[in-house]
Amino acid sequence: MSTNPRYANGNRRRNHRARFKAMDAPCGICRGALGPIHYDEPSDAQHPLSFVIDEIRPVSKWRQFGYDSAKAAAADWTNLQAAHYCCNQRKGNKVNFSGIAPQMPQKVKELETDGDW
Ligand SMILES: [Zn+2]
Repeated sequence: MSTNPRYANGNRRRNHRARFKAMDAPCGICRGALGPIHYDEPSDAQHPLSFVIDEIRPVSKWRQFGYDSAKAAAADWTNLQAAHYCCNQRKGNKVNFSGIAPQMPQKVKELETDGDW
C-alpha cells in the first residue's frame, strides 16, 4: 500500500467511528452512568455527551504497551473505546484516571477533534 499514511489513517479513524456508532456502544469511561452517547451531535464542548474515541492505553506511551509505533497504538481497535466528550476531557485532565491513563497528551486530543465530524 503506497497511500498517504495520513489519509489512510483518517480513513481508518472514520471506520472506527462508524463501527462504534453502529454498535451504539456505551461510554467506556463512565460505563453509561451519564446515559447513552449522543452519536449524532458534533464532538465539542457544547455537546458534552457527544461521541469521541478514547484510547484506553495512551498513544504517547506506545513503547510501554508494546506497540511498534504511536500510530499502531492509535490504530489498534482493541485499544479504543467509545466515550462521551466530557468523560474523555475529564480523563484527560486527571492524573491516573481509573488507574490506566496518567494523562492524555495534547496531540491525541487534537486527533480526536480534528476534521470530518
Ligand atoms: Zn461517559
